[in-house]
Amino acid sequence: MSNSPRAVAYIDLGALEENCRSIRGCLKPGTGLLGVVKADAYGHGALEVSRKLEAIGIDYLGVATVDEGVDLRKGGIATPLLIMSGVFSWDEIEPVVRYDLTPVVHDDSLLTRLAALSKEFARPVRVHVKFDTGMGRLGFRPAEAQRVAAILANSPGVKTEGIMTHFPSPEVRDEYGLSQVRAFLKVVDTFRAAGLDPAYAHMSSSGAIVTYPEAHFSLVRAGISLYGSHPSRSLEEVLPLRQVMKVVARIAFCRDFPAGVPLSYGRTYQTPRDTRIAYIPVGYSDGYPRSLSNKGRVLIKNRECSIVGRVCMDWSLADVTDLDGVQSGDEAILLGEGDSRGRSISANEMAELAGTIPYEILCKISRRIKRVYI
Ligand SMILES: *Cc1c(COP(=O)(O)O)cnc(C)c1O
Repeated sequence: MSNSPRAVAYIDLGALEENCRSIRGCLKPGTGLLGVVKADAYGHGALEVSRKLEAIGIDYLGVATVDEGVDLRKGGIATPLLIMSGVFSWDEIEPVVRYDLTPVVHDDSLLTRLAALSKEFARPVRVHVKFDTGMGRLGFRPAEAQRVAAILANSPGVKTEGIMTHFPSPEVRDEYGLSQVRAFLKVVDTFRAAGLDPAYAHMSSSGAIVTYPEAHFSLVRAGISLYGSHPSRSLEEVLPLRQVMKVVARIAFCRDFPAGVPLSYGRTYQTPRDTRIAYIPVGYSDGYPRSLSNKGRVLIKNRECSIVGRVCMDWSLADVTDLDGVQSGDEAILLGEGDSRGRSISANEMAELAGTIPYEILCKISRRIKRVYI
């Protein structure tokens, strides 16, 4: 690795810890925190993030797939691990048992098979049962609660450790969401009546942690907020968070142009005046969205500069005409906090300009950009 990589993604584990503390601070007493580390911890590095969360006492970790869970176990993570997408085929049960993973059961194919074979497991397989109260994705219908509970109550090899559901609009508090809370509570009651008493009932992801305090129950699932973004900017003032990832590139070189010169692919930008351009060696293959062509903002010397022309596979162009003395080797902050904490480019800001959501911005920062943990 060279001493001056063209770009680095600094992952501030101290900021992660602060966010964790801020989130815990708004939970009802007795509510546990599940840290969502799927998709390589939203691009932050699943193993490093999980190690940090484990060290500061996270109650549970959540990934999407069995493979992601196995990788964390192989990396030494001992915290309970929820496989939120469930298992895709029966083949995945072997690693689930071997690595002590907790799959989400959301349909009959896994439920009936687990129930039928459960006596063969050396120790009970822990599961969380998911109900679809209005997301329209994974989960049994609430009307099936009694039938599902009866099957589980008669399956000694399956331990119903959790019961869960998910909001489609966690950042919006409205009647639809409140009706989901009521539907979920009825399902929980049905389970209790069947003699099941899951240790965990959980519903809220990052947005709902703020907007639906009555849905904290015994566990909440925080993903994007751990990494410093809210699903909606309207929540930023309610619960201030710090951007954990900071992407810093080194300017490769600068060039001066007179007015009237087209720059980059498609000639979508023409210099309006004498212009100085800084060439940033990061492009869409690094995960800097091409949709930020002629729209993006970067911080150079703590000043906001515009991305001009098309973002290329390996390069982006920033207008530094109004800045003095920019030269090759200077830092360009593409995402994250600047030197003085006042100025920053948040994942939400980037997402707004790029026409997407902060989740996608963070997940897509490619592995070509080295992660450095601080
Ligand atoms: C990804 C995911 C989460 C985390 O959502 P955030 O908005 O990032 O907090 C929570 N629950 C489920 C089921 C998920 O798939």
